[in-house]
Amino acid sequence: MGDVVEGCLGFDRRIREIKRECKPDLKLPNDSLILPAGVDMHVHLRGLELSYKETVSSGTSEAVYGGIGLVVDMPNTVPPINDERSINMRLRELADHSRCDYGVYSGVTKHDVESLPIAGYKVFPEDINKEETIQLFTSKKLKILHPEVPVALRYGRMNRRTWQEIASLYEVKGRFHITHVTNLDTLRLAKDLGFTTDLTAHHLLVDGERNCLTKVNPPIRDATERKKLLTALFEADAVASDHAPHASAEKSLPYELCPPGIAAVSFTLPFIYTLAFRGVIPLSRAVELTSRGPSNILNVDAGELREGYLANIVVLRKDRWRYSTRYSKVTQTPLDGFPLDASVHATIVEGKVSYLEGQVYPVRGSNVFDKTGRS
Ligand SMILES: [Zn+2]
Repeated sequence: MGDVVEGCLGFDRRIREIKRECKPDLKLPNDSLILPAGVDMHVHLRGLELSYKETVSSGTSEAVYGGIGLVVDMPNTVPPINDERSINMRLRELADHSRCDYGVYSGVTKHDVESLPIAGYKVFPEDINKEETIQLFTSKKLKILHPEVPVALRYGRMNRRTWQEIASLYEVKGRFHITHVTNLDTLRLAKDLGFTTDLTAHHLLVDGERNCLTKVNPPIRDATERKKLLTALFEADAVASDHAPHASAEKSLPYELCPPGIAAVSFTLPFIYTLAFRGVIPLSRAVELTSRGPSNILNVDAGELREGYLANIVVLRKDRWRYSTRYSKVTQTPLDGFPLDASVHATIVEGKVSYLEGQVYPVRGSNVFDKTGRS
């Protein structure tokens, strides 16, 4: 597989040395691979008043079970995250309960939150034409766009089309990241316009929107678009889960009423490495999509096994298993039963074991976007 070497990593909270020859303190099973932990730049951990759907603790436990060392959380919580008070409250909740490193996006807001330790801003379709969004075009912070023009939200799911996604890219300028692209045209236009992109596993794999379980925004496209989207594995900058948990009572509502969202934060990394183990994509590409790419977009020193970088590490084994969630409050996803060839043996967050062989440990992650007082 090319880039794989045998060696040792010396680390505390950060990676201190990488050596070819050494006497290891801890010997791993022979077939294990040591890789940078995943960086998931699009999750909804819920918590606060939505804790009945998911808590920071259950969502991040699920994340480390899936080899993720850093999650960045979306602001459409109750209450919403869009001013100094709510951002600080959210950061405290994450500091107390997150089992991996974290960051938060603010919603588009009239309040000045630019100097707070946020990862950037989330722009939803309904924000696209707002004055506050236009003002953000000059902000140096990252803006992450849910790419759909506002009209897409108005006339029913059956009328949602890819042009509504594509058209939204012409509405924004500046340092934008286009999240969960559902089709190759969006991805290529985004790159032409100088934006970065990610895609989700469910937009590739789920066979159409057939029920509440498969209902998600933006919608799963038809088989032709999904097949073309496979090329995106070679062209996108990152993968993300868009982990969006809902209570089973909500997902049991009639199709027209149930909320959209798929919650499979632990699926992405084992899935992408399964593709690498099967020879579909090179191993270096799997690292790029799951960790190096998103870290570069977020501008954080994680996502690579490199001296001085955060010691966020995943130990993977080649192992056949079928996917299901384990720690999330969500027990049903449309990816359940998907055959995987890569399983997470251990996840290390800033040098501490957060997940090891079926056990989650209550380590505390930190806000990697808080540049004050960090080693
Ligand atoms: Zn989302």
